[in-house]
Amino acid sequence: MIKDLTTFNKFTDDLKEQGHLMPVLFIGHGSPMNGIEDNEFSTRWKKMAREIPVPSAVLVISAHWFSKGTRITAMDFPKTIHDFGGFPKALFDVQYNAPGNPVLALETASLIHSAHVEPDHDWGLDHGTWTVVRHMYPEANIPVLQLSIDYTKAPQYHYDLAKELHSLRKKGVLIIGSGNMVHNLGMIAWDKMDAPEYGYDWALQVNEKFKQAITEGNHDSLIHYESMGREAKLAIPTPEHYLPLLYTAGLKGTNDSTSFFNDKAVGGSLTMTSVKFG
Ligand code: ZN
Repeated sequence: MIKDLTTFNKFTDDLKEQGHLMPVLFIGHGSPMNGIEDNEFSTRWKKMAREIPVPSAVLVISAHWFSKGTRITAMDFPKTIHDFGGFPKALFDVQYNAPGNPVLALETASLIHSAHVEPDHDWGLDHGTWTVVRHMYPEANIPVLQLSIDYTKAPQYHYDLAKELHSLRKKGVLIIGSGNMVHNLGMIAWDKMDAPEYGYDWALQVNEKFKQAITEGNHDSLIHYESMGREAKLAIPTPEHYLPLLYTAGLKGTNDSTSFFNDKAVGGSLTMTSVKFG
């Protein structure tokens, strides 16, 4: 377990010597049930963890932590938050007991100059984080932190702030944006949730547009998504599930490759499309 600073620094020195930069992931988390189901999406998350270097820590920007001001979890042991309703007891029973890393939290806060980042001792790991990370690191032996999304700020702010986190990649920190590119729960076809690859035309079209902008590195389009037309408005009725994508785009380096996974629609108006940079 990499929980003390000495081990952490040794790990990062090793990584630097190898010249590695940790990849950055945007993960479409979808239904909370993915947290306890072994399906194609969660299986791919498990596989991804085996394909990339073992991280020194995981920092998640989750759609489910919207706050006034930017905050970072800074407790030794973040609690598992069951921030949903109407799901089976088995989902509420899940405890993901990964440690935090208060030292890394303060270090991360000090990297950010565009905003004051407040160390937080109240939040924990919400389902945008644990439903994904528990599949990737089931032993819960890697510290997990969350950075909140300041709901008072414009998209550009989030993209710019992400750039200030770049040096964490050199330290072996896996940064994950957890949301969904296309996320319109009001239009979900609940009776089609189990139908394979069921997406409305507009959802599939805008998903392709987002992917094209990501592939081309056209981040201005992604930031100004409101100018991308009717489909984008339908895909992003509220920004919380989309903004984590801007964090990952902001962290993309010039030499990073771009690849997609779990590129499928669910229930008509949701896409699980996920991205790996690096
Ligand atoms: Zn969600």
